Amino acid sequence: MHAWQQDHLTIADYERLSPLEKLETRILLMAVTGLTRIELITQSDYQINLAQHLALQTLIQRRLDGEPIAYLTGEREFFGLPFFTSPAVLIPRADTELLVELALSHAPENSALLDMGTGSGAIAVAIAHTRSDLFVTALDISPDALAIAQKNVMRHLAPSRVRVVHSDWYADVEGQVFHTIVSNPPYIVKDDPHLSQGDLRFEPINALTDHGDGLSAYRTIIAGAPEHLASDGWLLMEHGYHQADEVRQLLLVRGFVQVQSWRDLAGIERVSGGQFISN
Ligand code: GLN
Repeated sequence: MHAWQQDHLTIADYERLSPLEKLETRILLMAVTGLTRIELITQSDYQINLAQHLALQTLIQRRLDGEPIAYLTGEREFFGLPFFTSPAVLIPRADTELLVELALSHAPENSALLDMGTGSGAIAVAIAHTRSDLFVTALDISPDALAIAQKNVMRHLAPSRVRVVHSDWYADVEGQVFHTIVSNPPYIVKDDPHLSQGDLRFEPINALTDHGDGLSAYRTIIAGAPEHLASDGWLLMEHGYHQADEVRQLLLVRGFVQVQSWRDLAGIERVSGGQFISN
């Protein structure tokens, strides 16, 4: 038995003995005890009870086996809001906040916005939460993902603020027009070694890869966008670190103007987009 597996430990004991990184131990302690980050410090001699101890043992072991923290706690913060997560959805990533910021700065007042492949709903909810004038629709092909997205809508907004729709890309929004379309689609290339490393091993494979060259979601989204965009509307999409050129090319070939890419905090071109002017 390891020292962290003994019973009758205090918070301070756990912080000292846990085999996990300090931050991860704290996140699990908060989830199990219900204490805040500050309380963990001010009540560090708090005695972990048996039920909490057993829960922590299980969580620490699952983390040692590689499961992402966000699935263990069922939660991840994105754009300053806590979001429910589950293995049915990609864990929201800080990189994606760039897409939210661009959507907020490009969507006209009182306009309609579509989020394609919404997963947890983090993008759609963050946008709607910041801009109460927007009419937001969030679609996904996965019913399990939509259940999480709906929970996140209800957690942060009046239920009608984001319309959650089951749809295979544009299939079930036929005839509907939006002023802005955003997406963080599956873009990892089939057989990329990252898919079998770290947190990605536990995330839904269909949210990570198109099982092809990593561009097929962009081809589909870009091909259908003009039919679903109001004139002058923007299409904004997150992509991988090496895909900006190819995504811009696809936009240009489809007749988009103002085609450009934006860099994330690491200086990598992370989002590309363009505007469609119809006559
Ligand atoms: N950004 C994710 C990663 O590389 C991938 C997300 C996606 O495919 N949309 O870990």
